[in-house]
Amino acid sequence: MNPDLSEALAVAYASALEFHTGRLQRTPAATASVSQLLEAFDGPLPESPEAPDQVIHRLVRAAEPGLMGNFGGRFFGWVMGASHPAGVAADWLTSMWGQNGASYASCPANTVAEHVAGRWLCELLRLPPESSVGFTSGATMSHFVCLAAARDALLRKTGWDVEADGMFGAPRIGVCVGQDTHVSVLAALRYLGFGEGSTVRIPTDHDGRMLIDELRAALADRTGPLLVVAQAGQINTGAFDPVDAIADITHERQGWLHIDGAFGLWARTCPAKAHLANGIEKADSWTTDGHKWLQVPYDTGYAFVRNAEAHRRAMRIEASYLTTSEDGMHDPRNYVPELSRRARGFATWAVISALGKQGIADMVERHCELARAMSERLTEEPGIYVLNEVELNQFVVRFGSPEPSEAFDQATKAVTSRVQTGSVCFVSGSAWKGVSVMRISIISWLTTSTDIFQAADAIIDVWRCVKDAAGT
Ligand SMILES: *Cc1c(COP(=O)(O)O)cnc(C)c1O
Repeated sequence: MNPDLSEALAVAYASALEFHTGRLQRTPAATASVSQLLEAFDGPLPESPEAPDQVIHRLVRAAEPGLMGNFGGRFFGWVMGASHPAGVAADWLTSMWGQNGASYASCPANTVAEHVAGRWLCELLRLPPESSVGFTSGATMSHFVCLAAARDALLRKTGWDVEADGMFGAPRIGVCVGQDTHVSVLAALRYLGFGEGSTVRIPTDHDGRMLIDELRAALADRTGPLLVVAQAGQINTGAFDPVDAIADITHERQGWLHIDGAFGLWARTCPAKAHLANGIEKADSWTTDGHKWLQVPYDTGYAFVRNAEAHRRAMRIEASYLTTSEDGMHDPRNYVPELSRRARGFATWAVISALGKQGIADMVERHCELARAMSERLTEEPGIYVLNEVELNQFVVRFGSPEPSEAFDQATKAVTSRVQTGSVCFVSGSAWKGVSVMRISIISWLTTSTDIFQAADAIIDVWRCVKDAAGT
C-alpha cells in the first residue's frame, strides 16, 4: 500500500475514534473563538509539499476546538441527526472508493444502491412506489428538484415548454405556501424564477399549521396553474399542515402539491405518529433529509416525484459522451442538479440496513416520547412555558411569560446563550409568533432519557440564575 495513504488514514482513524470517545466529556458547543480558529488555520499559502499524515495531524488540532457536539446525545440545536456508525463507515468507503455517482456508466454499484435505497425509502415513508427518487445534498436542493418538476408539469399542461422557452412570457403559476413555511422553500422558489415576493403566504394557526379556510379564500377567484407547498413538520413546533384537505383543494384545481417533510415525513414510519401525516401520499412531490432523522452523515437529502417524466425533463443532463444506462437503471444525473457528484447511495443503503424498518420506527417514537418528557419536566418549573403542543420531536420554550414582552425576550435569549456556553447541552434560539424562544429538537440516535433529564435540569438551573439576577 502507498505509505502516504496508510499513514494519513491511520491518523484520521485514531483521531476520529478519540473524538468520538471524548464526546461525553466535551462541551456540546465549539470552544474556540474566531481568532483562535484563524490562528490555527491561517498562514501563507503553502509553498511546498507536506506529508499527508502531518497535514491531517495539524487539521485535527486546528479543527477540533471549533467543532460542534452534534455527534452526541445532548445536542438539541436546529434539527441535526448524529451520523450513524454504519453511515460513517460507508461514507469513509465512499471517499476511499472515489467514485463519480453521475451515472450507471461512471459507477454501476452506486446507481444500483441508490435505486434500491430509493425503493426502500418509498416503502418506509409510504410514498407511491412509482415515484422517481433523486439523492441530493439536503432538503433545500430536494425542494429545488421537486419544484422544478412541478414547474415543468404545470406549464406543460398549458402548452408551455419551460425547459425550451424559459420563464419569460410563460403563463403565471400561482404559488401558495404557509406563513410559517421553511426558508428553504422560499429559496428554491427563488432559484426557479418564481420570486419570493409573488408567493402567497397563507395564514397559520398557533403552531404554524396552514389554515384551510384561508387557503380556500386565497384560491377563491384564482385561475390558472397552481403550486401549493405544505409542511410535514414545522421547523419550530413540528406541526403538520392539514395535508389531506390541502391535497383535495389543490387537486380540484389541477394543481401540484409539494410536501416539505425534511424531518416530519419520518412520522410515517412509526404507527404511533403516522396519523399526523395522513393524506401525504396524495401529494405530487416530497422532500426529506437523510442527515436528520435517518442519521445519515452530511450531506444527504431525497427528492421524490410521482411524475417521473416531469422529474427527468426538469433535471436531465444529456450529451453524446455521457452514455445512458440500460437495464432500467435511472442515471442519477437526470434526477438531481449535479453531474459529477458523491456516490450518495452507499451511506443511505448502509444506515437503512443497520437500523431496519423497526429500528427506525422505534427511534422516531422514542424521540417523540423524549421530547414530551423533557417539555413536561421543564414546565414543572415556575416561569417556564412550552408554547406548542408537543406532538413530534420539536418544541419551543419561553422563559418568564408566554406573552410578548421585551424583558422576557431578553430573559429567554439570556437563558439560551448561557445554556449554549455551559457544558451540559446545546439548544438554539428563534422567534416564534412574535416572541423570542429557545428551540429544542430531539433527533439524535444517541439521546437517552438520562440526557433529557440532565439537560432539563441544566436549563432549569440557568433559568433560576437568570431570574434571580433580574430580581423577578
Ligand atoms: C432542515 C430543514 C430544511 C432544509 O434542509 P437542508 O437539509 O438544511 O437543506 C427544510 N425544511 C425543514 C422543515 C427543515 O427542517
